[in-house]
Amino acid sequence: MKIAKDCVVSIHYTLTGDDGEIMDSSDGQDPLTFLQGHGNLIPGLEKALEGKTKGEALKVTIAPEDGYGPYRDELVQEIPKSNFDPGQPLAVGDQFQVETEVGPLVVTVTEIKGDNVSIDGNHPMAGKTLNFDVKIEEVKEATEEELAHGHAHGPGGHDH
Ligand code: ZN
Repeated sequence: MKIAKDCVVSIHYTLTGDDGEIMDSSDGQDPLTFLQGHGNLIPGLEKALEGKTKGEALKVTIAPEDGYGPYRDELVQEIPKSNFDPGQPLAVGDQFQVETEVGPLVVTVTEIKGDNVSIDGNHPMAGKTLNFDVKIEEVKEATEEELAHGHAHGPGGHDH
C-alpha cells in the first residue's frame, strides 16, 4: 500500500539541523503516527512521503518555506515587564500562549533587560532548513473515526 491522502502512517525519524545537531527524534519512543494529507505534518515531509511504502527509508531536506515557515522579525516584540503578573517568576526560555488577532500564539521569552521583556512568537524551528531521516514503519487505511477527526489514533497518534 502506497502512502496517499487518508492513509495512517507510522514513521521513525531523526531531525537534524544544518550544523548536524539533532533537534528531534522518535528514537526510544513509539513511532510518530499521523493521518496523511490533513496537515498534521509540515508540508515538505508529507510531500516527500507521498507514494512511498512500508519499510522504505528516506532522507529529506526541507527548506523553511515547506517547514515551519520563514523567521519573521515582526513576531519579536519588546513589552514592559509590568504587563506580566508580578507574582509569577519570569525567566528566559519561558513559553506562554497569548491571544492575537489571528488566534492564539505561543511565544518564548528571549531576553529580560531592565523593565523590558523580549518575546518571540516564531516557531523554534522557523527559518531553519530541516534534514529528516525517515523510516516508514507502517501504512494502513484510516478508520471512519480517524477520518472524521482528521488525525490518527492509538500509540504515537492522537491521545484523547
Ligand atoms: Zn480523534
